[in-house]
Amino acid sequence: MEYQVTSNALAGRVILVTGAGAGIGRQAALSYAEKGATVILLGRTVKKLEAVYDEIDAMGAPQPAIIPLDMLGATRQHYMDMADTIEQQFGRLDGVLHNAGLLGVLSPFDQIDEKSHDDVMQVNVKATMLMTQALLPLLKKSDDARIVFTTSTVGHQGRAYWGSYAISKFATEGMMQVLADEMSDTKVRVNAINPGGTRTSMRASAFPGEDPQTLKTPLDIMPLYIYLMAPEGINEHGQCIDAQPKR
Ligand code: NDP
Repeated sequence: MEYQVTSNALAGRVILVTGAGAGIGRQAALSYAEKGATVILLGRTVKKLEAVYDEIDAMGAPQPAIIPLDMLGATRQHYMDMADTIEQQFGRLDGVLHNAGLLGVLSPFDQIDEKSHDDVMQVNVKATMLMTQALLPLLKKSDDARIVFTTSTVGHQGRAYWGSYAISKFATEGMMQVLADEMSDTKVRVNAINPGGTRTSMRASAFPGEDPQTLKTPLDIMPLYIYLMAPEGINEHGQCIDAQPKR
C-alpha cells in the first residue's frame, strides 16, 4: 500500500473510534494508539471495549478512554453530553472514525422488513449524523481535524438483495459529500473509506460460505485508515477511497 506515515504520526492527537470493540474499528483503535494517538473507544459492548483498552494499555500507548453507547437508542442529548465530556476530559478532538455499522437483514427489496430497515438507518446514518453535529464545534477548534465515514462497495453501486444496508451506505456517502463541501473553508477534512471485503464477523454474516482466509484482515487495510488521520493525509477532502484493490 502506498500510504506512508511516520512512526509517531498521530502523537498528541485525540481520535474517537465508533464500533471500537470488534472488527475493523478494534484494529483502527489499536493502530491509532500505536501511532501515538489518545483513542476514545465508543461502542455498545463494554467488555469488548475493555479488552481493547487493556491491549492499548499493554502497548504503553497513551491512556485511552471508553464511551459505552448504543447508537440505536442514543439521542441528540447523549451526543451533546458526550461532546462536553470529551472537551472536559481532553480539551480537544482531532479525529472521528465513524466505523460502527449494522448489516441488517439481506433480502429481496419487496421483503425489506420495516423494523430492520429503521435500525440500520438509525445506526448507520442518523446516529452518525447526530454525533457529527454534536462533535463539530469541538473538531473546528482543532488545527487539523479529520472526519472519516465508512462506506461500502454497495454504497456507490446498488446490488440485488443488499437492501437497507446499501441504501444506508449511499446515504453515508451523500452525508460525507455534503459535509465535505460545507467544511471546504475550514480546517476539517472529511472523507469516506470503503474497506472492501475484510475478515470480520459482519463479512462472515454476509458471506457465510466464504473462506475467511481469502480475505484481507483489518490490519492489512490500516494504512489508509492511519493516513487519513495523519498529517500526510491533509490534502484528501471529499473523497471516497478504497482501502484495498477491488477483488
Ligand atoms: P463488525 O460487525 O465486525 O463490527 C461492527 C462494530 O460496530 C462492532 O464493534 C459493533 O459493536 C459496533 N456496533 C454495531 N451496532 C452498534 C450500535 N448500535 N452502537 C454502537 N456500536 C455498534 O463489522 P466490521 O468491522 O466488518 O465493519 C466495520 C465497518 O466497515 C461497518 O461500517 C461496515 O459496514 C463497514 N464495511 C465492512 C466490510 C467488511 O468486509 N468487513 C466491507 C465494507 C464495509 P459490537 O461488537 O458490540 O456488536
